[in-house]
Amino acid sequence: MGHTSGMWDQRFHKWPFRKVAELIRYKAALVGIAVVSVTEEYSSQTCSVCKEMPSKVNARKANRKHRGLYVCKDCGTVMNADINGAINIAKKYLVTFCERSQDRPVVDLGRPWMYRFNGSRFVA
Ligand SMILES: [Zn+2]
Repeated sequence: MGHTSGMWDQRFHKWPFRKVAELIRYKAALVGIAVVSVTEEYSSQTCSVCKEMPSKVNARKANRKHRGLYVCKDCGTVMNADINGAINIAKKYLVTFCERSQDRPVVDLGRPWMYRFNGSRFVA
């Protein structure tokens, strides 16, 4: 995050990670949703467009986020850095926990657009 705006954001960033994870598990269990943990390793340094998976080999430290944007020097992609990281984490989830990741849809709850994972990237 390049900026801090308002009390809520500031308080949110001080939440202890483990406590947030516990709350998510607790709330999800109440409505029968399974929760799995995925390591965020290399997810913010790897380009989600031209690299298959976040990894030490694929991470580019030079592709640091600038004003909240991820800029890839390999393929020229410029995108919101948090979205790039989220796509990489979704890829890790699909490959690690889903046997047939190609058939597993990922739904963006904010806007009802569905993407399918073809093994290395999301396609609309
Ligand atoms: Zn790239």
